[in-house]
Amino acid sequence: MNNRDLIERDLAVLWHPCTQMKDHELLPMIPMRRGDGVWLEDFDGKRYLDAISSWWVNLFGHANPRINAALRDQLDTLEHVLLAGCSHQPAIELAERLVALAPNGLTRCFYADSGSSAIEVALKMSYHYWRNRGRSTKTKFITLDNSYHGETLGALAVGNVALYTETYRPLLMDVITVASPDCFHREQGESWHAYSERRFEPMRAAIEQHTDEVCAVIVEPLVQCAGGMRMYDAVYLKLLREACDSAGIHLIADEVAVGFGRTGTMFACEQAGITPDFLCLAKGLTGGYLPLSAVLTTDTVYAAFYDDYATLKAFLHSHSYTGNALACRAALATLDIFAGDDVIQNNARLIAALHTATQPFCDHPHVAEVRQTGMIVALEMCRDKNARVPYPWQERRGLRVYQHALRRGALLRPLGNVVYFMPPYVITEGEIGFLAEIARAGIDIATAD
Ligand code: PLP
Repeated sequence: MNNRDLIERDLAVLWHPCTQMKDHELLPMIPMRRGDGVWLEDFDGKRYLDAISSWWVNLFGHANPRINAALRDQLDTLEHVLLAGCSHQPAIELAERLVALAPNGLTRCFYADSGSSAIEVALKMSYHYWRNRGRSTKTKFITLDNSYHGETLGALAVGNVALYTETYRPLLMDVITVASPDCFHREQGESWHAYSERRFEPMRAAIEQHTDEVCAVIVEPLVQCAGGMRMYDAVYLKLLREACDSAGIHLIADEVAVGFGRTGTMFACEQAGITPDFLCLAKGLTGGYLPLSAVLTTDTVYAAFYDDYATLKAFLHSHSYTGNALACRAALATLDIFAGDDVIQNNARLIAALHTATQPFCDHPHVAEVRQTGMIVALEMCRDKNARVPYPWQERRGLRVYQHALRRGALLRPLGNVVYFMPPYVITEGEIGFLAEIARAGIDIATAD
């Protein structure tokens, strides 16, 4: 079997996610045969460094021996059982450990099976909480411009990246959208802190104006990932928590992408010292092995649903594979690695290496910004760096970087004009240097005309 055979078979039957399939007339997909650490290998034997952790899910490398061993053991014990009316050890232990790790006050864990479904759970739970409390005028959500929360209709509605939402606009519930604190737009010389603080004012106004109709504010803490790795300061989250508290509105922290060490702390909310009412987790939760998500919430929320059956206050949301035993076991093995290897502490070295390797891009004539939050670094390609004039999206400059990187042996998947690294935590400093070199040449090629 080689790449060509598999591509032919694939194109005959498969429809790929987030892909204009016609692109594959010119741009072959890559059938991967195996993974090993940060490396993927295709069926022709070519290797690629997975610089984006396979859509931000992989934390400790492909085919990680410790996660593999845990899964083998779980396979021989219990693969899956429904979680309504039954329970199992991995689901219980994982909930205990997530509750212990999460910001104080999050005491209940509800499982789902993707980031999007976790968002659906949080939105429904928040709305349903207010309804159970007799506040049925609360039906709306506040979201940030340029945010992304997934692709199912509820998650899409609270997201704001036009590429994904606009086509489906007539199907989406109305939300209240507030300007983003995205620090790319700060004034020259203005700090992230000052800009994020200043940009909180429209959010404060929206909260005050819509208090009675709003269930919750939903945000991606610190980094708007799919919206181009746009970043902001933790002060925004602190102010948001205070404003939500005084208005009696929930705060939903979507840490699907930024949880599990991506921002330098286990959870991004820690940097603001806040506890959201709902913490949505997915992606890295299983180390990139299996689909699983979790929504952590408070005793107060839980108590509003706890009543006699006939009151019909129960949260009846369910997915067949909720709390799948294999997925929970992969997540436990992932948490074991965090604890055993002191990962958050040790990532500081990689965070510094990412910084050092990407600082030279500041001098590139077509890189308007090099920004970093923890294990995420983004390079913003611009036509005119000083005036911050972007390249028109139709030119697909990022695609040129992608193609160059593939030729050189790296899987980089720019978001429009934004080239970014979000690698597994087992990358070496040498491999970070290799990526930076590839990105440099790729950006040179992409911005040459
Ligand atoms: N929320 C955020 C912040 C995300 O980045 C994503 C996916 O990229 C999602 C939710 C949706 O997660 P999933 O793709 O697992 O449905």
